[in-house]
Amino acid sequence: MKTRNFDIAIVGAGITGLSFACAAVKRGYRVILFEKNEQACSASVRNFGLIWPMGQSAGPGYERAIKSRELWLQLARETGFWVSENGSLFVALHEDEMQVLEEYHKNFGSVTKILSPSEASNVSSHILKDKIRGALFSPHEMTINPPEAIQAITKWLKKNNNVEVRNGEMVYEAGNGIIRTSSGSWKADNIFICSGSVTHTLYSDVLKQQNLVSCKLQMMKFRPVRGTFNIGPTICGGLTLMHYDAFRHCPSIEKMKKRIFSELPEYVRYGIHVLVAQNNYNELLIGDSHEYGIEIDPFIKTEINKLILKYLDQYFPIKNLELTNIWSGIYLKNPGNTEFVYRADSSTFLITGFGGGGMTLAPAFAEDFLTSLRTP
Ligand SMILES: Cc1cc2nc3c(=O)[nH]c(=O)nc-3n(C[C@H](O)[C@H](O)[C@H](O)COP(=O)(O)OP(=O)(O)OC[C@H]3O[C@@H](n4cnc5c(N)ncnc54)[C@H](O)[C@@H]3O)c2cc1C
Repeated sequence: MKTRNFDIAIVGAGITGLSFACAAVKRGYRVILFEKNEQACSASVRNFGLIWPMGQSAGPGYERAIKSRELWLQLARETGFWVSENGSLFVALHEDEMQVLEEYHKNFGSVTKILSPSEASNVSSHILKDKIRGALFSPHEMTINPPEAIQAITKWLKKNNNVEVRNGEMVYEAGNGIIRTSSGSWKADNIFICSGSVTHTLYSDVLKQQNLVSCKLQMMKFRPVRGTFNIGPTICGGLTLMHYDAFRHCPSIEKMKKRIFSELPEYVRYGIHVLVAQNNYNELLIGDSHEYGIEIDPFIKTEINKLILKYLDQYFPIKNLELTNIWSGIYLKNPGNTEFVYRADSSTFLITGFGGGGMTLAPAFAEDFLTSLRTP
């Protein structure tokens, strides 16, 4: 047994584990962080990099996303990674989509703006204004470059004397204040297991019994063939309205869904909604699909990527862009909840299941969780 004791041990250096580490060092705790890979390479580096309050339902989810937004800005200042406060643009291709956007704006949109097709194309010049009915702009969404941000935060933690980061070290036992890996054992007052979609290493029996669902997503990256290419805000279309809880209460949503179910069954089948984000290298990240409950399917379906591009091409032509990367990512979702928390013993917590909102929610979740844990 190593002699050094820690206040907090964390398993997993994705955004959840890093958020707990950042919240813990801020409070002066001594932290040890284990990551089984040399660098985190799961969902936290495979995503769009969107800090996306618009994806959350109005109320606590949205507020938590806004709190995370502030924490991301603070972290970017402290660690030096790129962040763009570029907002989001929801474009409507059909009248029913426009109705949903207008209803959202009327009921929840204290900061949103409804834009005409011309106004939307002024905000994002690549959009074909003749093909859309209008748009909703929201200023609060932000973009980071996930691999760079995750690496910058990890490096920053490594420099802190109160933190020990152990990359390439898989934890095979964690509980009752003890962590074990192949190279030794450590003691900690609290253990946070932030293992993302990895369900077979720690507490697999617990995870199997829960209602958690795996989701596989496909993504593409393009770079401009020449010159600069600025999309302005992150762009999404009508399919996205089906996907987010934020629009659930809009009266026209059911009518819109009914049309999409009958007109675009293959999009519904693969859970496709189409988003275009841009990073600090001018590259466009385009996705994504949602295939649920997939146990082992390592293959990318080209059919899905073609469907995504076909949809986008209606209002955002894929011209002068070169495809550079395709990949998939997996996350765990806890249906009906924004996360999954399981208390394994008095001091060990299993925290995962942020679904498609981990980048948006984990920083504020970790802050709030540590505060509540240490408040008598
Ligand atoms: C394609 C895609 C697009 C997305 N887009 C967005 C977006 O734009 N905005 C947003 O908010 N969210 C987005 N998400 C969701 C978000 O990426 C996830 O919710 C989030 O990254 C989950 O983070 P995590 O740290 O819980 O899990 P992970 O990122 O999976 O990290 C878990 C880490 O734990 C490590 N680990 C597991 N077991 C062990 C062990 N026993 N010992 C040591 N280490 C271990 C793993 O190696 C891994 O690095 C997207 C997800 C995907 C897949």
